[in-house]
Amino acid sequence: MHDAADTARAAFDASVGEHGHLHESSLVEFAAGVLPAPFELIVARHLRSCARCRAGALDAARVGASCGRAAPFIRLPGAAGAAATALGQRVDDILTGGRRHPTWWHVFRGLEICSLGERSQAQLWLLRAQPGTVLPAHGHGGDELTLVLAGSYFNGRAVLEAGAVEEADEAVVHQPVVTSTAVCVCLAATRGGLRFRRFLPRLLRRVVGL
Ligand SMILES: [Zn+2]
Repeated sequence: MHDAADTARAAFDASVGEHGHLHESSLVEFAAGVLPAPFELIVARHLRSCARCRAGALDAARVGASCGRAAPFIRLPGAAGAAATALGQRVDDILTGGRRHPTWWHVFRGLEICSLGERSQAQLWLLRAQPGTVLPAHGHGGDELTLVLAGSYFNGRAVLEAGAVEEADEAVVHQPVVTSTAVCVCLAATRGGLRFRRFLPRLLRRVVGL
């Protein structure tokens, strides 16, 4: 017998396949409360809409509890810490227009970026890209975790739609392409910066701090 959560999980899995979900290591780090606030925020937001990863995070929290880890170190799905919650409020304020002059950088044609600053050696960004925008090919000096808030993009393997996440590390080089149907808005956390292959994005990296 299927309940509403099963139906939602099946619909989400059908839309993103095996892509679009969190790695087990991220779920364990989230449950243990050791993720930097920008990453923690994105994990918490994904867990809101993804029953599959929520179940994984609950399992990780249960394992942590059975190993004697006590609250507040065991973070349940949806429960973000104070720093991540405050960051999330800033994000919502910007997206709903509550902030009169959010700092959006037009980094190149079709792409705007808004920096939400650095927390615990990790940075948080909002990205807004017009339909069909091809982002610069880049590798990573550390981890990158992206959550699609609106629209969708193709990452070379799958189309990621609202609610989906993509994790990238030093081994990944990719060039996201925004699909042609709608403006794509993403929330991205980075550690260690990005490595662009072409001169212009490298120059922008110096200016914007990506
Ligand atoms: Zn998921």
